Amino acid sequence: MSDTYLDLVNGPLRGIAKKLGLPAPVPLRRFSADDPQHGYLAEPVLVAGSTPGAEALAGLLVDAGFSVQRAADPGQRYSAIIAAYDGAQTPADLQDATLAVGTALRGLVTCGRVITLSDAPATADEAAVAPVDPALNAARGGVTGILRSAAHEMRSGSTANGILLDGVGPEAPSVAAALWFLLSAKSAYVSGQFLTVDSERGRRIGAADFAATGDSAAAPLAGRVAVVTGAARGIGAAIVEVLRRDGAQVYGVDVPAAGQALADTMNRVRGTAIQADITAPDAADTIAAAVGRPIDILIHNAGITRDKMLANMDAGRWSSVLGVNVLSQLRMDDRLDELGAWGDAPHVVSLASTSGIAGNRGQTNYAASKAGVIGMAAAAADSFARRSGSINAVAPGFIETEMTKKMPVLTRQVARRLSSLAQGGLPRDVAEAIAFLASDAAAGINGRTLRVCGQNMVGA
Ligand code: NAD
Repeated sequence: MSDTYLDLVNGPLRGIAKKLGLPAPVPLRRFSADDPQHGYLAEPVLVAGSTPGAEALAGLLVDAGFSVQRAADPGQRYSAIIAAYDGAQTPADLQDATLAVGTALRGLVTCGRVITLSDAPATADEAAVAPVDPALNAARGGVTGILRSAAHEMRSGSTANGILLDGVGPEAPSVAAALWFLLSAKSAYVSGQFLTVDSERGRRIGAADFAATGDSAAAPLAGRVAVVTGAARGIGAAIVEVLRRDGAQVYGVDVPAAGQALADTMNRVRGTAIQADITAPDAADTIAAAVGRPIDILIHNAGITRDKMLANMDAGRWSSVLGVNVLSQLRMDDRLDELGAWGDAPHVVSLASTSGIAGNRGQTNYAASKAGVIGMAAAAADSFARRSGSINAVAPGFIETEMTKKMPVLTRQVARRLSSLAQGGLPRDVAEAIAFLASDAAAGINGRTLRVCGQNMVGA
């Protein structure tokens, strides 16, 4: 789908847009299997801070062949700037690494990366169970403010995201996976977000393995069996393509009415089409029988909108949206369990939405379903962890699909610009985040919601 404004400000209207101070989105650098750089950039990476986390990340980068610098040089060009704050005891400890980032920031290349590493702040509930020093928690909370503000200040397609250590050290395997995801072009439309690693589960992988594709044994999803609902078009079709690219064998589910589009999508990826309505009481039985072997990855992507202001909401619109978007997922996960259809370490990723975080006018039903998905993932995390798996949600913001194409032209133009990247995301941006969370390497991230929204102004 084309974004005319983006094309114009990067073409004939570049000078005028600059003069008028208009938003200046740039085409984002996205992952390509043919890229000799594997989705990473060639310029050096600055690792600021002198903490165990800084040592660990610098070690990972050096082992992977990156050129790493440990002191900010204002004349240097950087592909990424990493600030390590782990172990900070008081907000006063945040100064040095933050000012080092500031010194280096002008040298950040187009579509560069800022990444923070810090300890997760305790919530009030957690602090009630395990008291935490207020100064220490202020330091931990402070990093969220630094990161989110820095993300708002990014220019030229650069992003800023953080890794939070929740009761684990920087050597936890999924910290490496999180680093490669945030550093690579696969996270092009993720900005202002945190990935929380809270267990030692996961697999420590190198930067090249994270980028391996196709039938390579090193590909992140090699040999895994993946089911994607709502696979006929839009984000679902992009998910099957990316999961296949990363080595999975894919099964796509969609309603019989979308049968031809589903067949086309699944033929493209040499996958298998399963015609089923996920709201049917026997949907899980149909899917398990069609797959015929353990399911390692399940992506709950099928979703619908039936917007109405609450004053005009009716039972049909309410129940169909809740039925497709969340009730069918709860039922399917339970039934697959009863059937013993899960693989040894199952990974589930469920589609939420920024509407489920911030709410949206005319979408009480949709937002209830998507906020429900976020709650579902948080509550089911423990049971998936016991099986060495994970369940997470991904919350897209404005993504260029048939769904958003239906918006009135002006609303659509405004919606696109309301993010730090000043443009809409593509279906494959969402798919990349999903493929990352569905990998064994990321199993230390569980029960969380990752926004893929270019730091949309809506919500946090
Ligand atoms: P889409 O409408 O283009 O595709 C959804 C697919 O789900 C369709 O192929 C449809 O046939 C299928 N589907 C619907 N009901 C089904 C059912 N009962 N059983 C089986 N399949 C069914 O939507 P999209 O834009 O690709 O969105 C995909 C997911 O991402 C949805 O969950 C949506 O809520 C979410 N999302 C999208 C956006 C966006 O900007 N497009 C933003 C936030 C969240």
